[in-house]
Amino acid sequence: MRRHAYAGQVASKGAAAGVLRRDRPVRAAPARPAASVVGAVAATLQQLVALQASSQELGREILEFQVELLEDDSFVSELIVRSGDTRDPQAAIGEVFEEQIELFASSESELFAARAADMIDLRDRLLGCFGGDREPEVDWSENSVLLADDMTPSRFLEIDWKNARGIALRAGSAGSHVALLARAQGVPMLVRIGDVDPSMLECPALLDAVAGRLIVNPEAAELGASETPIHTVKLAEDVALGPALLPDGAQVKINLSLNSLASLDETPAEWFDGIGLVRTELLLPDPAALLQQEVQANIYRRLFDWAGDRPVTIRLIDAGGDKAIPGFTIPGETNAFLGVRGARLLARRPDVLQTQYAAILEAAAGRPVRILVPMLTLPKEMEFFRRKLDEVIARQGGNAQAMLGMLVETPAAALEIGSFGADFFAIGTNDLVQYTLAVSRDSDALDFGEEIAPAVLDLIRLVLREAERTATEVTLCGDVASSLVQLRQLIDCGIRSIAVPARFAPRFKHFIRHGE
Ligand code: PEP
Ligand code: MG
Repeated sequence: MRRHAYAGQVASKGAAAGVLRRDRPVRAAPARPAASVVGAVAATLQQLVALQASSQELGREILEFQVELLEDDSFVSELIVRSGDTRDPQAAIGEVFEEQIELFASSESELFAARAADMIDLRDRLLGCFGGDREPEVDWSENSVLLADDMTPSRFLEIDWKNARGIALRAGSAGSHVALLARAQGVPMLVRIGDVDPSMLECPALLDAVAGRLIVNPEAAELGASETPIHTVKLAEDVALGPALLPDGAQVKINLSLNSLASLDETPAEWFDGIGLVRTELLLPDPAALLQQEVQANIYRRLFDWAGDRPVTIRLIDAGGDKAIPGFTIPGETNAFLGVRGARLLARRPDVLQTQYAAILEAAAGRPVRILVPMLTLPKEMEFFRRKLDEVIARQGGNAQAMLGMLVETPAAALEIGSFGADFFAIGTNDLVQYTLAVSRDSDALDFGEEIAPAVLDLIRLVLREAERTATEVTLCGDVASSLVQLRQLIDCGIRSIAVPARFAPRFKHFIRHGE
């Protein structure tokens, strides 16, 4: 059997082995076709509500947009009126959706652009209710690696991920809702793998969503090696309880890194020593929330409630680069990662900064809180952030217990670490790597190997040295989750506190305790 490897972009890390199967198209016909627009809307609503009932919170939230649209009288009236004017109601429905899809797709905001995929998903589900050729369901009798052109969030939520092990998409994007769902559920996923020869279907396949490869007819040694990626190692969850102590008795603190509130309810606080990173720019429901203290305070309150007595570190909004927020970030920068991003953007919008400070302090309600400033390059930037924080604290009565820390993610910040006057340090390796090695963090064309490059390790050592000299706490927040090799290097280098997504806690604690 011919071995064949396809390169793709990792959208959800992990590894899976199984039979390569084509997932059926989204537009699958129902057993009883709908006779009218009203019937199709009702049937679609029924399907979505059933899916919501069996989904976790993130899935429910994503489907809520579609449910709300079908419950919106003006939208449904437009579908009815436009389809009533023609002999081809399905074409008319398609046209109504097309207009909306174009509108969303042309938005510069990733958030809104992702809505285009939700609209396509909804359109296909709705049109599917009118009937057509019924596509057979995938044969789930064995483990499968699914292959599809693209996948919608509602299709993802329909699939039983005990038998389906991973997804490879011909197109798709790592920023899509379905990628978000895959990451939340720990389902390995590759996007943009291009065309796959149909003769490869029903062959054994290895989805290596760490190195970014789909290997069809892999060699035995490759399958053996796939046991190594951390996501495939099954551990009892109680491994995640208790401190992670190295064989010499030193503790490595395991803090939670959080991108979405949806996962918080399902994450046991007992696994963690605290919250080490919150990407607040991903938690806001919409751009208006940038200036809504109460909306933000409600979000941050959930973090404190979850953490109890554990330390909570909240990062200020890090927009710009690949994270656009309409009306806030600057459109059309030629090199957005080197542009007005993170602290640089907040410094231009003191109204947004003050609102966030006030919301964080309101939510903390006198409890200790650590606030983290992203993307600093110059010590004077930190002075500005401290002055603004002091002003907000004074305005609220002066009782806050707030520490102001710096995220070290530029070489400039690491080299001048002692001049920033930060209360604590966090190291963001995602950006530190890209700015040190001149390698774009979303590039899959450049391969610098699995190990952390010496220059990056040297910068980390500079931070650790300053932390030791001044007895300042330091946590490593970047994405070290793809490789235990990197975790080993960081521990050897002296890192004793990390922030990781929830699902890594069991494996990392096991590794720290046993070295394997
Ligand atoms: C980092 O750069 O490592 C980091 C923690 O921040 P983000 O990935 O959100 O840029
Ligand atoms: Mg960063």
